[in-house]
Amino acid sequence: MKPAAPATSAAHPSACPGLWRVVPARDGGICRVKLPGGLLSSAQARAVAEAAHLCGNGVLELTNRGNLQIRGVREACQDQLLRRLLAAGLGPRDPAADDVRNLLLSPAAGRDSAAHLDTRPLAERLLALLQDRPEFHGLSAKFALQLDGGEALAMLDHPHDIWLSALPGGQRLAFGLAGSPRDAALGAVAVADAVPLVEALLRLFLRQAGEHTRMRQLLAERPLAAFLADLPVALESAPARPARLRQEGPPLGVHAQVQAGLVMLLAGAPLGRLQAEQLQALAELAEAEGSGELRLTPWQGLLLPDVRAERQARVAEAMQGIGLLLDARAPLARMLACSGSAGCARAEADTKADARRLAERLAPGCAQVHLSGCPRSCAAAHVAPYTLLARPGGRYDLYRRERGQAGFGRPLASSLDIDQAGDWLAAGTPE
Ligand code: SF4
Repeated sequence: MKPAAPATSAAHPSACPGLWRVVPARDGGICRVKLPGGLLSSAQARAVAEAAHLCGNGVLELTNRGNLQIRGVREACQDQLLRRLLAAGLGPRDPAADDVRNLLLSPAAGRDSAAHLDTRPLAERLLALLQDRPEFHGLSAKFALQLDGGEALAMLDHPHDIWLSALPGGQRLAFGLAGSPRDAALGAVAVADAVPLVEALLRLFLRQAGEHTRMRQLLAERPLAAFLADLPVALESAPARPARLRQEGPPLGVHAQVQAGLVMLLAGAPLGRLQAEQLQALAELAEAEGSGELRLTPWQGLLLPDVRAERQARVAEAMQGIGLLLDARAPLARMLACSGSAGCARAEADTKADARRLAERLAPGCAQVHLSGCPRSCAAAHVAPYTLLARPGGRYDLYRRERGQAGFGRPLASSLDIDQAGDWLAAGTPE
């Protein structure tokens, strides 16, 4: 029997892929699987790998929000794919809540020794809030929350509609809206008041948003004080905090855990993709060397936690053998590329093939480069140090991120082929 489809949001019909909404692309359908906190058990990883092999083209995409996409899904297989994913426990609590499960955590939540708070219990309550209240199912599929516990391994560059960040001591959380920086919090609440705060903010947003789907759109036309005027939660002032350092590129490699004697390995998937066989091999490795847990990262890679410290070299070698990247200085680890013309009808260039070619020309430690097939920038939610934006004919315009410059940054050169772009970047990026 076909699994029941959810009622779609009449307010904001979405073009984004979902479990029930397989979106067509050049290489077949795309099914997006949202993972709570990026968590994927080894059993679920095996189920996804098998489903991708049987129902898709075997290609898995790791998104910059710690989710998974199965590509190349054949129309005749969509029901089978859905049944397999639901049976593996990869669905929402309510089918109508699939789109709103947008809460980004650090992949190292509960493991990172720099954290002030283990965010996982609060994350569970926030996800339950989003899923259990039908009124919140009308939020756009792009409306997203972020919760960080102060982890060193946290992606803070992605702008989120609402963010919460644990303060030293772990008793209180600072919060902000619309991608504001962590050192510009709007206030703070006790951890116990975080769910009522988010609930109130969501209600205020839905009441005032009109046609807007994102917080930044609403706050661009409505003063912040007016938006917050009816907030029924008492706020404390947030203490001044130094700006947290921006990470240039993914923090790949071995990291100590707060649990003595254990380490976690953070690896990159080349250009954000894995084959089903690679995920299967990672599931086996997580069972043999870790706790059977994998976590997807917002750097489009995976974290393998709970590895005994004395086994780290062996496990790193095994991950590299599977085809993952452990060296943060490797040029391929510093390339971001969307599906490109092989997968997307909007793309003006084969960004993935060009990114591989570019990586071969650049030196270790080069700056991060984002190749985007069109201005939608699917591969990066942040602005990368350098962006190559494709233009008709498979050529690129080159931009450099600069403070105060909107969009991708300052234009440096236009209509470059990928080798010319390589020459520019090799001359201008640090060793
Ligand atoms: S950035 Fe544009 S070309 Fe690339 S995948 Fe997204 S929509 Fe397609």
